[in-house]
Order: sequence, then structure tokens, then C-alpha cells
Amino acid sequence: MDSVEYERTIAARFAIFDQDGNGYIDRADFSAAAKAVLAEFSVKARSDKGQALYDGAEAFWQGMAGIADVDGDQRVTRTEFVTGAVKRLRDNPQRFAEIARPFLRAVAAVADEDGGGVAPAAAERALRALGVEPEACRTAAAELAEDGDGRIAEDAIVAAFAAYCTTAEPDA
Ligand code: CA
Ligand code: CA
Repeated sequence: MDSVEYERTIAARFAIFDQDGNGYIDRADFSAAAKAVLAEFSVKARSDKGQALYDGAEAFWQGMAGIADVDGDQRVTRTEFVTGAVKRLRDNPQRFAEIARPFLRAVAAVADEDGGGVAPAAAERALRALGVEPEACRTAAAELAEDGDGRIAEDAIVAAFAAYCTTAEPDA
């Protein structure tokens, strides 16, 4: 990919994390993400699933800040995101997966509406609620469902999300 493409990809990834679009990533963005997912599935914040989601969002923020908030001002700027998060997470996707896992596990629990696992359509709704481009949501949900029993495994969700956030390859 050329540098223009790369810039565009990074901008899209940054926009996912910068939920309120104010130009930096902070704790409020992670709370907003949790809130959006709960709203999509009509789950109350004051419930076990709701609490787990907010806890996961806080852990995700702490992990992100630990990796990327170089100057420690509790904000991850685009520059910090590019130089810190993207590069280091690409070098170590496993670390990213562990940081994101509690949040993604909680999202999966919210999206598992009948207790039988996450259906592809529910995964698509969850991704859309998180601000992922609609086309990418459809593609991701279809790919995730491909080699399972019709429901999506947590590990597949974590791996796919880590790959989406950390690779510099163009969406295809
Ligand atoms: Ca923000
Ligand atoms: Ca900072």
C-alpha cells in the first residue's frame, strides 16, 4: 500500500477509537463505545452484562493508555496512536488481543441475545454500533461465521478485531 492509503487506513482506525470525534482518544470514548453497544441491544448499564461491558471498556482504555499515552496526559493523540499503538501493536498483536479481550468478551455477551452464542447478524450490529464501516461489518461478520456452527466464537472475534485495528493492509 502507498502512503496515502496507509494514512487513510490509520485515520479509519483512529476514528473507531475516537468515538466522539474530538481528535483524541480518552476514557470517555471507551465509555461511549460501551454505551452504544448497550443501546443497540437494549441492555441496561445496571445489569451484569452492562457492568461487565463498562469494566471491559475501562480495562481496554487502561491498556491503550499504557501503550500509547506517551506523555501521560490521559489522552491519546493521533500522533501517539500512530507511533505508539499502531506500531507496537502490529509488532505484538497478541498483546493487543489481551488488552481488548475483556471488552470484546463483554460485547459478545451483550450480542448473544439467546444465550446460544453470537449470531452473525448480531455481530454485524455490534460492529456497526462501534462505528465500523457498514461494508466492513458485513464482511467481517460473514467471515467470522464461515468456519463455525453458525455462531461466532470469542477467539475469532478477538483475533478479527485485533487484525482490523493493527494491520496496515487495505480493507478488501
Ligand atoms: Ca475522543
Ligand atoms: Ca497523551
